[in-house]
Amino acid sequence: MAEPTYTAEWVDGAHEVTRRFLLPPLHRHDLCAADVAPLLHGIKGHPMAKAAIEAAVLDAELRAAGVSLATHLGAVRDRVPAGVAVGIVTSIDALVATVGALVDEGYPRVKLKIEPGWDVEPVRAVRSTWPDLALQVDANSAYTPADTDHLRALDAFGLLLIEQPFAEDDLDGHAGLAAAIETPVCLDESITSARTAQDAIERGACEVVNLKAGRVGGILEAIRIHELCLDRGVPMWCGGMLETGIGRAVNAALAAMAGFTLPGDLSASSRWFRHDVTEPFVLDDGHLRVPQGPGIGSCRGPTRSTR
Ligand code: MG
Repeated sequence: MAEPTYTAEWVDGAHEVTRRFLLPPLHRHDLCAADVAPLLHGIKGHPMAKAAIEAAVLDAELRAAGVSLATHLGAVRDRVPAGVAVGIVTSIDALVATVGALVDEGYPRVKLKIEPGWDVEPVRAVRSTWPDLALQVDANSAYTPADTDHLRALDAFGLLLIEQPFAEDDLDGHAGLAAAIETPVCLDESITSARTAQDAIERGACEVVNLKAGRVGGILEAIRIHELCLDRGVPMWCGGMLETGIGRAVNAALAAMAGFTLPGDLSASSRWFRHDVTEPFVLDDGHLRVPQGPGIGSCRGPTRSTR
């Protein structure tokens, strides 16, 4: 984001920390992707900036070897189901119209952002309009455990999951909610590493994992979380954070791995960008194609007119 309002990281900050602190220790000729995280261990935080560098090094490595990221990850599918997130809008009528347009575009799974005052009734309206739509909600930590009884009302709507209802450091609260409601509790912001994922799963706080490579510091840590979730039988899906076609290609490859059993926040480029930096991702029968070219595999987009 342009401002540090969703996470501590923001675009200009990531650029500055990359230039001043993350790139200088990496000026070695024999660098490989697995070296990046250990070499940057002394720089605190900034997982998204670190993930960008690791992804670039991994991309170069795989291009040199002529191997696609999807193949490197052991992808089990060449297309992945699309999903789309819908923010909080001005009225329930506006929400139903927005969701209707996305369903008409071919999105098979919709996620609604919720917050206190905008939860049960909007979900009821969407569910009653589309009884069979794959539907889930994301609270971005807008609730507290005191809202447990209220959130139980969402059990009536057959949701795939409720994502990050409480603060990211409140694993006990999430464990309590998971025991109290039927809708599976999914964690997003709480999962910052394989270690935090394991802790959350073992404490009963996390029944589904939303994986974002940037949030966990890179693709290699994402692979570790994928192995953990496969081992523990925890379903997972790939989140999204307004990626350009470069990050979207990484997400598509991740979502093609065996453990990603739920549709991700994987939208067409047109959901966020009029012009993407790559060839745009487009919906094809409700799916995105997983790039198969060497490395990340996204292709440079058409040059934009500068007139
Ligand atoms: Mg989320």
